[in-house]
Amino acid sequence: MRDLYEVLGVERSASSGELKKAYYKLAKQYHPDHNPNDKAAEDKFKEASTAYQVLSDEEQRARYDRFGFEGLRGGAGQGGGSGFSNVEDIFSAFGDLFGDFFGGRGGGGRRQARGADLRVDLTLAFAEAVWGVTKDVKVTRELACGTCTGTGAAPGSKPEVCETCKGKGQVVHAQGFFMVQTTCPQCRGAGKRIKDPCPDCRGRGTKPETSTLSVTVPAGVDDGQTLRLAGKGEAIPNGQTGHLYVVLHVQGDERFKREGADVLTEVPVSFVKATLGGDQEIYTLDDNCTGTATIKLDPGTQPGEVFVRRGQGIPRVGETGRGDHVVQFVVEIPTKLTARQEELMRELAKEMDEPVREKRGLFGRKKS
Ligand SMILES: [Zn+2]
Ligand SMILES: [Zn+2]
Repeated sequence: MRDLYEVLGVERSASSGELKKAYYKLAKQYHPDHNPNDKAAEDKFKEASTAYQVLSDEEQRARYDRFGFEGLRGGAGQGGGSGFSNVEDIFSAFGDLFGDFFGGRGGGGRRQARGADLRVDLTLAFAEAVWGVTKDVKVTRELACGTCTGTGAAPGSKPEVCETCKGKGQVVHAQGFFMVQTTCPQCRGAGKRIKDPCPDCRGRGTKPETSTLSVTVPAGVDDGQTLRLAGKGEAIPNGQTGHLYVVLHVQGDERFKREGADVLTEVPVSFVKATLGGDQEIYTLDDNCTGTATIKLDPGTQPGEVFVRRGQGIPRVGETGRGDHVVQFVVEIPTKLTARQEELMRELAKEMDEPVREKRGLFGRKKS
């Protein structure tokens, strides 16, 4: 087993501040959150934590200085113990310290107990996704019990201090050479014991409830996106409430093909209008996607030609501005003509010196 000062890389005369600083550096480097599934890093993390636990305790440090590892023998264990066997125990033992180090949960420090996250699906009409909407969702989740206000103790009684850990939630026992702190097995860290459980939740402190939540969907969301409602998941005694994830399903609209914040509208126009130009009415996203506008077709508009209406697309979520509305002209060739129309077309063909198929009668026979 390596010398504990060597593990932390400090002098034997190191002050408590220097120890803390050295441990901080190692803990940060080998933190399991930064080294997922890395056994070697986890071992280093445990080794450094063990060294720091001993040396940060004045009494244990003094014994180690005088007698080495022999001085730390807890009695019950036989040599070769590695201090911490479990990463969670390190967070339990040094929770506050990790809070200081990593600024709480954000830095990936101590993992605080949190209720389960939940997921619900929400289907939106196309216009609701474009312009935003407030919708109700029904969720069944574990919530703090109203009868005992989440304590788990029957009304009129109170949870009692856990006798095993004296309310600390942690117990200290010998493991190998070391005195190791672990979560109290009796109260599982709560520090309290319920003698007279609440009849409503049977002492759990939470019970399933179905409630309707109002979800504000911002304008511009797209199919498959997820909204997070922080703290609207499941409750847990002595911990934070989980989150509710709302998965959005957006229905299509055949008039508007969506591409991010842009929409494409295909507009059929007759070959006559494409040739001569003219006004064309189109659908727009305005008025909850029921709006219309008139755009001018230039003479000689080609099939597939586009007209871009800048900033008339879908609002960008969390930003200002909108995408574009792209209007594409699909030039239609008639499949049926009246006798008069055909006559005019044939006249046009002659004028344009265009050899065309001769008129056929019924059953494809040539008219003579
Ligand atoms: Zn209850
Ligand atoms: Zn306890």
